[in-house]
Amino acid sequence: MRKIDELLAQKDLTDEYRYATAAERRQEKFQKNWQREQKKIVKRIESFWSKVIIKGPDDCWEWSARKNNKGYGIFSPLKYRSAHRTSWFIKHGEIPKGMYVCHHCDNPSCVNPSHLFLGTAMDNFKDAVNKGRIKPIHLRNR
Ligand SMILES: [Zn+2]
Repeated sequence: MRKIDELLAQKDLTDEYRYATAAERRQEKFQKNWQREQKKIVKRIESFWSKVIIKGPDDCWEWSARKNNKGYGIFSPLKYRSAHRTSWFIKHGEIPKGMYVCHHCDNPSCVNPSHLFLGTAMDNFKDAVNKGRIKPIHLRNR
């Protein structure tokens, strides 16, 4: 009888051991993947800033690579497709769903994070009206 108990105890130990090493291996694999992932992201962020003409803190920082027909910079290796949204993402994290990244400076190719602000579609519209980019229909004939 004692022999069986001993054997069972031993079996528990080896199971535990096996479980522990498997968990360790998983952990190691996760860390390696995570490090690889982080390096990739750092490289992409560096590549982003290498395309920006960075000036003084209050100046517009022009996007020097590809732009769309409205003048917005295009950069897609990170989460978003446009450069100004990517700039906001690098500084603040994910853009809340349905929100717009707007320009204080009204310069579509600017990616200076301090010139960018988050707004709703309505904020973006009001901003465009205030800056004269859009004329509301009821004002057009005046
Ligand atoms: Zn600007």
